[in-house]
Amino acid sequence: MALFSQVILHIALPVPLRRLFDYLLPSELETDAIDVANTIEKVTIGQRVVVPFGRQTLVGVVLAVDTHTDQDVAKLKPALSFVENQASFDAAQLQLLNWAAEYYQHPIGDVFSMALPGALRSPKTIDEQLPKVLQKCDELPDKQALPKNAKQIHKLYDVIRSGSFTRDELNKKDITSTTIKKFIDKNWAEWTTSGQGSSAVTASHINEGLALNTEQAIAVAAINAVNHHQCFLIDGVTGSGKTEVYLQAIEHRLLNQWQVLVCVPEIGLTPQTIARFKQRFDVPVALWHSAMTDKQRFDTWQQTRSGKARIVIATRSGIFLPFKSLGMIIIDEEHDASFKQQDGFKYHCRSLALYRAHQANIPVVLGSATPSLETLYNVEQGKFSYLQLQRRAGGSQMPTTHLLDLNRCQTQAALGQPLIDEISNQLDKGRQVMLFINRRGFAPVLMCEECHWLTECGRCSSFTTYHKNSNLLICHHCGFQHPTLHQCLGCGSTRMTPVGTGTEQIESNLANLFPATEIVRLDRDSTSKKGEFDDKLNKINAGQPMIIVGTQMIAKGHHFPNVSLVGIVDVDGALFSSDFRAAEKLSQLVVQVAGRAGRGSIKGQVWLQTKFPEHPVIQDLVNNEYKDFAKYALNERKMLSLPPYSHHIILRAESTIPDLGQQWLSNLSGYLSDYEGLSILGPTPAPMTRKAGKFRHMLIIQSQSRPYLHKLVNWLLENLDTIQKDNRIRWSVDVDPVDLS
Ligand code: ADP
Ligand code: ZN
Ligand code: ZN
Repeated sequence: MALFSQVILHIALPVPLRRLFDYLLPSELETDAIDVANTIEKVTIGQRVVVPFGRQTLVGVVLAVDTHTDQDVAKLKPALSFVENQASFDAAQLQLLNWAAEYYQHPIGDVFSMALPGALRSPKTIDEQLPKVLQKCDELPDKQALPKNAKQIHKLYDVIRSGSFTRDELNKKDITSTTIKKFIDKNWAEWTTSGQGSSAVTASHINEGLALNTEQAIAVAAINAVNHHQCFLIDGVTGSGKTEVYLQAIEHRLLNQWQVLVCVPEIGLTPQTIARFKQRFDVPVALWHSAMTDKQRFDTWQQTRSGKARIVIATRSGIFLPFKSLGMIIIDEEHDASFKQQDGFKYHCRSLALYRAHQANIPVVLGSATPSLETLYNVEQGKFSYLQLQRRAGGSQMPTTHLLDLNRCQTQAALGQPLIDEISNQLDKGRQVMLFINRRGFAPVLMCEECHWLTECGRCSSFTTYHKNSNLLICHHCGFQHPTLHQCLGCGSTRMTPVGTGTEQIESNLANLFPATEIVRLDRDSTSKKGEFDDKLNKINAGQPMIIVGTQMIAKGHHFPNVSLVGIVDVDGALFSSDFRAAEKLSQLVVQVAGRAGRGSIKGQVWLQTKFPEHPVIQDLVNNEYKDFAKYALNERKMLSLPPYSHHIILRAESTIPDLGQQWLSNLSGYLSDYEGLSILGPTPAPMTRKAGKFRHMLIIQSQSRPYLHKLVNWLLENLDTIQKDNRIRWSVDVDPVDLS
């Protein structure tokens, strides 16, 4: 008994603490176990377990079991029960999540909880939630024995002879419930939770691909030739047929019975994208993104785990799914900022994909028309294989770029006159025009014409955006909203006027300029209702002449063949940012938006409006290619020792007390200042100094050596509570930050 009580479970719990918690075995197991070694063997790592935690009951995950604890054994509580016998995480996931929690310095329990589908965060067993499938029984007679002319019965007979199906799947095949009931009553079929697998993929499941051009063929051959870990970058201009390369590389893996994970940016998961995969492959394709219900997510999780889903198309958190036989990971638009989670567990999907692929010894394919400087650096270092697609596929030409100097022309409604003339010219020819402005709402601020007071957010160091359609002033940083002010809060004047331009304003101005033309606006406000975004995409795809106005929602991935002119209304705001990545982000965005022009048989044009035509970034955008910009920018980063030539970890502090964060970080940096090989930048107020009522400060810690940087920061965080605990501070850590705001 004494020996026996020494079996200790080390458990990850969904609480914001950076440690595991020790528990004894559930009491019912204590009595019937024979010896310690035997008991330890019975516990499965990755198993979910229910434990008492203060006055709560929590579901945690067993990450280790042994006989050691740093705590007083007498004070340890027994766990209440195991949820089930099987593990909820497989070995690859356990390794990935342990590594990720450590690398990103994030509480391990939170990492494990986040990687579970919502349905498993409660103490329900996996089996309880499995969808039931209808499966044939041995009693199913020969076809001749079926009643003649009973069409429905013959139909279901053929269906269940070919496999097992859920009720949803049967509904889609127009099988009625009465027919199903007949089969069950006769003992011809039964509902079971088995039958989750699927038959082997053969050539008959795959529709023929396009005949590749030389560059595509080289890329596909290179990827298909590897059977081990290797990372590829497909650097292909917009419209060069990267997707076709992915499809033919996927085909190869599928035929070898592997599963493939395709990660796409948050707004890239459009019905058009999914349709392209489903048209090519007649295999189960599962989706994973934040707009899915818990049940849908569980289904994808389960189908990934059982191996039924052969292709999974996912946003960033898909990287945590439990694949039965993962054979390749594709990251489309790898430069996209949405692959990095910005709050809570601040992981980067691309970094985790590289880790996971290395661990599984499989290839990763990154694709982009505007690769991140991090990725180009890895190419330069010889770590990634470089595949280039320099020409547009399918015969369309790259668009030409025009600079429109707003100092030298008349403007109407935020558009230069020459651009307005060209819009009308293109519309007359039956073409579509796209105008991009990265700001939703009517105007970024209202101003009093008498005292110049601006509508500011009371909780953030920022202004409230005027939304004319909903008649609200909304802060885009904290969500605060207020009915529109008709009187100045400074002087009481009623002369409040919008300053600057957003999508709503462009839309309404265009309606005046082109009253006979349809205008479609694509931004978060105009696509929030279910189906609205898809309806608008369908309308654009129908190809009628129209003007499309949108934010970055229109920038990526779409293939609109009839768009011949893209106007970029305002880039100037991004030219003078304090973020060293601003130029990279702006260049990527502009190239992506420009890439929507002329994707059909007509040559496209891109117009860039600016008041700063001499600015080097603008000059590069007009005269050179992204490649030239990237080369120059990498060189600059090298000279300044900025990432990717060094590594960053940011510590952020937030407090309702104005300078407390500054002092707190400053003390903390004192512990690091004596170490060589470490640069400490700050502490400084964050660019967005006040957000939702909190004052924000940050400290950037930089080093050439990533392991060294991690070791020191790790030491600091482990000892944080002892060296300087202050409950008035909320702090967070951001490893490899991409956004300094
Ligand atoms: P990207 O993803 O690089 O922007 P897409 O894969 O969307 O480009 O391809 C752009 C267009 O070119 C699509 O309409 C696609 O069907 C077509 N395309 C791609 N590869 C070929 C090819 N080898 N032959 C003919 N058309 C192609
Ligand atoms: Zn005023
Ligand atoms: Zn605010």
